[in-house]
Amino acid sequence: MARSQFYCPMHGKSIDEILQIFEAAMCENDYSKKLVKNEEIYCKGDGVLALMQCFSLVFRENAVVIEAWVNDAVLGESELKGFSGIFIKKKMRALAEKLSLLFSSSHLKEWTCPECCRENSPYSLSCACGYQKELS
Ligand SMILES: [Zn+2]
Repeated sequence: MARSQFYCPMHGKSIDEILQIFEAAMCENDYSKKLVKNEEIYCKGDGVLALMQCFSLVFRENAVVIEAWVNDAVLGESELKGFSGIFIKKKMRALAEKLSLLFSSSHLKEWTCPECCRENSPYSLSCACGYQKELS
């Protein structure tokens, strides 16, 4: 069992707030909640024809750890490294990095999409028009 881990300080955010951000991002990216071996995770793909892509959160004192991994029916869990499934892994890594920026950010605000001028929730990473929020 090997998972990639991304450690993020919460900077005073509550667990509820972190979960809201996480759920919004998972939903935007078509991940759905599943209970696998008594662990609540978000995943997509079936693990047979396509690699199953999984995320979960582990809370520590004042910090949250994002766990990300792919699951293959034959090989089991593997972290986001190596050449097999490299495009999927790169995408997941980018999503984990965005999440960790959101989790660590001390002031999240509503933002206006530069493409369509829609107001977006502080927790969303992309606009309904497809625009991806820039994070720095
Ligand atoms: Zn937009």
